[in-house]
Amino acid sequence: MAQPETSLMSRLVSLCKRRGFVYPASEIYGGLNGFWDYGPLGTQLKNNLRDAWWRDMVECPPLGPDGNPLSIVGLDTSIIQHPQAWMASGHVAGFADLMVDCRESKGRYRADHILCLEVFYEKAGQRKSLGMLSVLSGEDAADILAKKAKKMVQKAGGGDVVPFDLATATPLTSLSPAEQSKVIGPDAENAGTLTEPRAFNLMFHTYSGVFQTEDSKVYLRPETAQGIFLQYKNVLDTSRVRPPFGIAQIGKSFRNEVTPRNFIFRSREFEQMEMEFFVPPEDGMMWHEFWVQERMRWWEAQGVSKANLYEHKIEASELSHYSKATSDLEYRYPFTAPGFGELEGVAYRTDYDLKQHQEHSRTNLEYIDQEANRRYVPHVIEPAAGLTRGVLVLLCESYQYDESRASPEWLKIKPSLAPIKVGIFPLVNKDGMPEIAEKLYKDLRKQHICQYDAKQSIGKRYARMDEAGTPFCVTVDGDTLKDQTVTIRNRDTAQQERVALSQVQTYLNEKLAG
Ligand code: ATP
Repeated sequence: MAQPETSLMSRLVSLCKRRGFVYPASEIYGGLNGFWDYGPLGTQLKNNLRDAWWRDMVECPPLGPDGNPLSIVGLDTSIIQHPQAWMASGHVAGFADLMVDCRESKGRYRADHILCLEVFYEKAGQRKSLGMLSVLSGEDAADILAKKAKKMVQKAGGGDVVPFDLATATPLTSLSPAEQSKVIGPDAENAGTLTEPRAFNLMFHTYSGVFQTEDSKVYLRPETAQGIFLQYKNVLDTSRVRPPFGIAQIGKSFRNEVTPRNFIFRSREFEQMEMEFFVPPEDGMMWHEFWVQERMRWWEAQGVSKANLYEHKIEASELSHYSKATSDLEYRYPFTAPGFGELEGVAYRTDYDLKQHQEHSRTNLEYIDQEANRRYVPHVIEPAAGLTRGVLVLLCESYQYDESRASPEWLKIKPSLAPIKVGIFPLVNKDGMPEIAEKLYKDLRKQHICQYDAKQSIGKRYARMDEAGTPFCVTVDGDTLKDQTVTIRNRDTAQQERVALSQVQTYLNEKLAG
């Protein structure tokens, strides 16, 4: 199948804009880097993914290894917490990325995103170096670097760029300071204009109350997890849970990312779905393995193919000092392919967070197990997923391109997650068809999100629904008037079936379940 010239990501971004999934925030003012708004279809898709997570975590949690349902409760904590909470968690001191500025381009970049490679060119049989070029990692990185090299060769009097393999490039952070000082920045022409990498705290801050002093400085949470630790004791005391049990929360988080990029993959305001699972210390590793498998299975159940998911076990030497095991669940995004990028982290955080808060708040956070006559600070397993990053995964995974269809671009979203479930059309806007279609619409909309559409040709209406990822379209046509049947078109196969009008509801209920 012929594929269009433009990259998959740029096609997806424009489909999202055109169909109302995702818009740049503040677009009429030129946009705001790192911020996105969700349109009518995007909001519904995000809510559907959020609700599926909440249902499968809190309302109907999975069965544990003993075959009994796990005990997980929900929570909704403030975005702004006591500033000491962020000192205790280590975010004030250590939540930082290494960044570099470019004195020439005035750009600011995350140091680990800059890939460096010495590029050569040939002229009159002689091979010469263009110097240590750099480019930001991403789907188009090789093309961008090739264009830059070509421009430089032209400036140097002509010649041919020697083909290079970006896979052999070195991240800026792996170069020595002397080597770093010779790099030509991603948007620069001269070498040595990048500053030394320096730590940059990612937390946004503001002030609470009328006086804007150091004492009233507060932070927007960079993760939802800490709110759970701060309320763990209240939850334990006021609900009937005891280890092993979980507390789940979904909400906004904020990180002043140095280089927000790749559409909604890395933004400065985003949503997370996090769960802290509190267990007796000796069971930590067992529960970590359990949650890694469970979360992998869950993403597959949302329609993400196994081939595009990867468990990246973090090497012992790379683990955070408090973690005994961490696996990142990664997805093959178009901009990381053939490699993978993080979708969710499943970390065994030991008792680090609770002990830190215990120490800083001077509050006893032990669990007293009266049956076993023992007290301990529980260990914690944390499956932390990005909700907005999950939406990106669903969009990437479902994007299809097929020139033989009325709309070459269409979204194969799992029916239960699709923003619109059913399109309802009268074939023509006369002869009694609109009346039947409208009645059907009024009946079906009580159970499913439906869209009534009587405008333009039937092919165009199918195309509109395909682009929105709507799994079924029901058409009332001339035969309906004679035999009380309609056609139901399946998005994935583009096949149509005739179904009795009285059976449409049952048919759809069955197909749209779970
Ligand atoms: P990364 O390495 O991509 O910066 P992280 O390891 O810092 O991510 P965590 O702190 O483990 O991420 O956060 C848990 C999840 O929250 C991530 O797996 C991701 O899905 C999501 N997330 C984190 N930062 C962002 C962001 N800036 N934009 C969108 N989602 C994010």
